[in-house]
Amino acid sequence: METKDLLDGTFFSHFERQQPSPPSVIVIGGGISGIAAARALCNASFKVILLESRDRLGGRIHTDYSFGCPVDMGASWLHGACNENSLAPLIRCLGLPLYRTSGDNSVLYDHDLESYVLFDMDGYQVPQRLVIEVGDTFKKILEETEKVRDEHNEDMSVLEAISIVLEQNPDLRQHGLAHEVLQWYICRMEAWFAADADMISLKNWDQEQVLSGGHGLMVQGYYPVIQALSKDIDIRLNHRVKQISNWGNGVMLTVEDGRSFVADAAIITVPLGVLKANLIEFKPKLPGWKIDAISDLGVGNENKIALRFDTAFWPNVEFLGIVAPTSYACGYFLNLHKATGQPVLVYMAAGRFAYDIEKLSDKAAADFVMLQLRKMFADATEPIQYLVSRWGTDPDSLGSYSNDLVGKSPDLYEKLQAPVGNLFFGGEAASMDHAGSVHGAYSAGVLAAEDCRKHLLEQFGNFELLQLASSRDETIETMVPLQISRM
Ligand SMILES: Cc1cc2nc3c(=O)[nH]c(=O)nc-3n(C[C@H](O)[C@H](O)[C@H](O)COP(=O)(O)OP(=O)(O)OC[C@H]3O[C@@H](n4cnc5c(N)ncnc54)[C@H](O)[C@@H]3O)c2cc1C
Repeated sequence: METKDLLDGTFFSHFERQQPSPPSVIVIGGGISGIAAARALCNASFKVILLESRDRLGGRIHTDYSFGCPVDMGASWLHGACNENSLAPLIRCLGLPLYRTSGDNSVLYDHDLESYVLFDMDGYQVPQRLVIEVGDTFKKILEETEKVRDEHNEDMSVLEAISIVLEQNPDLRQHGLAHEVLQWYICRMEAWFAADADMISLKNWDQEQVLSGGHGLMVQGYYPVIQALSKDIDIRLNHRVKQISNWGNGVMLTVEDGRSFVADAAIITVPLGVLKANLIEFKPKLPGWKIDAISDLGVGNENKIALRFDTAFWPNVEFLGIVAPTSYACGYFLNLHKATGQPVLVYMAAGRFAYDIEKLSDKAAADFVMLQLRKMFADATEPIQYLVSRWGTDPDSLGSYSNDLVGKSPDLYEKLQAPVGNLFFGGEAASMDHAGSVHGAYSAGVLAAEDCRKHLLEQFGNFELLQLASSRDETIETMVPLQISRM
């Protein structure tokens, strides 16, 4: 290819240069995964540019500051507040405090029941004893679903398995208010997967190796992590990639305004929802196994409605929940006042309900949530400000995070991660151990960078100066402990 054919966005590839110089890589997507990949390759002295479609970095990490305090409208917890977490060194080094909302060894979706207050639809508080009793029953029901799993070769949804368990064990059935509390537990589980229980795979739902340390809320928001990692990287915002050509010697990417970028390799970290919707054209087409992995992995939806008040009129607990006859109608608020001292509540909606929220205007969504809050607290004041996320319809995300659909093979994450020629794949859905999380996305980005580095060094010979220093540098290596608090 003649370099004169390229427009001003040109990024020269290795094979076009006369003098030996570092290989070039284009990273697509400026979320944690893309930034981690770009950071690792920059540290290893590669030529890197990062193309991001939005006018901001962070992707599904989106810390909003318009309330005068940080409010995360995307990710907000470090799942696994322990040194084994791949993000722990950076969080420690930045001195970012965590507020733990669960016990040390919590299971997936578990937070600390002691710090919940649940209300029924009429606004009466559910006795705490009942909340704890039904919580224990829910654990038993889930244990029984393991037997159902063992007895059936075919996969089924968690909801179907729960119905079988309740049919076989009438003593575990709940009635009246207890039934509503059980639905609320299911609602919490659905929030973890960002999908309704009839969409969650019985075979795979509990297969993740959960890190220890419980769930640590990023008290100052997640954005400082993005800011620190992205320092000095050549980042082009408002660059939406529309086409990726992958030929023997390199890649050529075309962005929305028609400009092209050429490099030796590319790392793709756009969300799974974007890949599913075929918003990027691949030339030649991706192989069948990759297309199948993209279509067979699920993408859920979760949305947040954040409300800022004059003062906190609610009790000093971590979560306020509403129980109802169906999990769809249940709901809960995260009380940021407890963790941060700011009078802010964040309502969370998952699965179909999260999509339904997106059909409302921001005002209608905030009004709906206020209706729930007024049932609990007759003296609830009007919010001063509110924010509504729309991850499901946002063209730059098209969903919140990936999950396992019923009946699909568990090796899809591996297939999503596998390279195709000069294309490498990162992003949360390419994480084999911790898909759907920030630390999983981070590690997937680092892994894609490492694969890409090896591939290019094999292709062009070892450059003496090129070493993959991982994104951890020496200052990060110093053993500053994680700052974990609970007020
Ligand atoms: C509501 C919500 C709550 C969550 N809560 C948590 C939590 O508490 N803890 C946790 O660990 N995880 C949580 N997650 C998941 C976590 O946010 C994600 O797993 C992680 O941030 C994904 O990072 P990523 O880099 O893979 O993708 P993204 O952050 O989505 O980055 C991909 C980037 O690609 C860009 N892009 C898209 N299309 C193009 C294109 N054509 N060209 C160029 N760029 C493009 C996007 O704009 C985006 O910036 C939550 C997610 C949501 C939505």
